[in-house]
Amino acid sequence: MKYEHLFGPVPSRRLGMSLGIDLVPKKVCSLDCVYCEVGQTTLHTTIRKEYILFDKIAEELKHYLNNNAKPDFLTLTGSGEPTLNSRIGDLISFIKQNYSEIPVAVITNGTLLNNPKVREEILHADVVLPSLDASKDEIFKKINSPCSSLTVKDHVEGLVKFRESYTGKMWLEVFILPGYNDSVEEISRLKEMIEAISPDAVQLNTLDRPGVIEDLYPASHEELIQIATHLTSQNIEIIVNPPKKHNLTIDERDLDSVILSTLQRRPCTLDDLTKITGLNEVVLSKYMVALLENDIIEPFQQKRGKFYRIKGIE
Ligand code: SF4
Repeated sequence: MKYEHLFGPVPSRRLGMSLGIDLVPKKVCSLDCVYCEVGQTTLHTTIRKEYILFDKIAEELKHYLNNNAKPDFLTLTGSGEPTLNSRIGDLISFIKQNYSEIPVAVITNGTLLNNPKVREEILHADVVLPSLDASKDEIFKKINSPCSSLTVKDHVEGLVKFRESYTGKMWLEVFILPGYNDSVEEISRLKEMIEAISPDAVQLNTLDRPGVIEDLYPASHEELIQIATHLTSQNIEIIVNPPKKHNLTIDERDLDSVILSTLQRRPCTLDDLTKITGLNEVVLSKYMVALLENDIIEPFQQKRGKFYRIKGIE
């Protein structure tokens, strides 16, 4: 079966080997972040609907889990904002009823959590990983380009209310971009908001793949440590590189489609792809050369090295 809405499993920095589930097509989102790995938002919306049919996702998931090793996590994420799919609650219930041994994570920008229905629908996920990058609307606009109806106040209020009723793990991600949200004042304001939200952990992240704007650059490890020290009262983790792939191996016959579906979502270096596929560079290079020669993928240079993307996808 060809999986259109599942990807991976990929070694996630936070969730081990995680099978991703796309709930919206590329790229439906309430934000259009400058650091987005998926590319620019094409449908900028807060309107919820069944963007990808529940039945189709459930069918793929059943087939995958009946025929493959179980991943560490099923992660609702993908090519946009997953809570925009109005059947997310049904999907979580379906997983809990049929595959209760596999924990479910939701990676969300958190902007819809001010809606009580959204909060209720993701209440049974095991881990929710929302984001908060800005303490003021002006910075929110600069980093995240929210839909016009969204404000920082509502965003934080939604996160606080969700935390009050949610008993699973909440790991809040703060994406640090030098020049955007790393001033002492901004970090102090974010600290207050984080204290009000009270997540189980705060994860500081920074750029490691190309974003929408080419001259964005990552925060150094030293700067992230400084910021972590400033945010002392919380359980803080600085996101590091993904763990090495373990026990799940990808059949070489499926390799082309694994490479292409990964690159469709985000550009990768050869090193990223070796971690995702579990294959060594020599074997992988053979496939990459064929894809390059057939004009299916193209290389481009970024600070972190040579990246590959599907030709024609920016
Ligand atoms: S919220 Fe996520 S998917 Fe949406 S633009 Fe930001 S990084 Fe991309």
